[in-house]
Amino acid sequence: MQVRLSNIPEDGRDVRFSKGGDWFFHLLRQEDGDDFSLDRIDVQCLLKKVRGNVTVQGEIVTEIDLECCRCLGMFRLPVRTEFDYTFFPDPGDSEEDLELSDEELGMNYHRDDIIDIDHIVVEQIILQIPMKPLCKDSCKGLCEICGINLNVVVCNHQTETISSPFANLKDFKIKKGK
Ligand SMILES: [Zn+2]
Ligand SMILES: [Zn+2]
Repeated sequence: MQVRLSNIPEDGRDVRFSKGGDWFFHLLRQEDGDDFSLDRIDVQCLLKKVRGNVTVQGEIVTEIDLECCRCLGMFRLPVRTEFDYTFFPDPGDSEEDLELSDEELGMNYHRDDIIDIDHIVVEQIILQIPMKPLCKDSCKGLCEICGINLNVVVCNHQTETISSPFANLKDFKIKKGK
């Protein structure tokens, strides 16, 4: 979704749209199914002109299917995230300050009088994807020996090493007094 500056009235413009996974991965220029997938994205936001700038505040709702980094099982992460962007007028190619400061690098500009909301949506969803996705905090993962999913069953390897509260005492030697 792209909105022209001239189509934003003085009291702001409410924008709502829904998109599918194809749309998202096309924008991301990435094949679906690499690390994650999603089916539906709902976006709702308010665009406002504030002097020469445009503010875009809103919310994105989606569900991301991810692979748990511990048990390798697929799970669904519900996402509801709010965003608040400010777009500044494009400074163009000024001869001065070719070196951008860190602050300027993080700034958004509206070019050709167009506010690109798609870009916000993709950026915000990517930010929601954890580096190490976990199906749940207490995920027990896979057995290092037989590879079985320990969330589902417990194998013999686990009962030997973990279930005994005295496992740590096994190597403990009692010194005999002389
Ligand atoms: Zn897991
Ligand atoms: Zn095992």
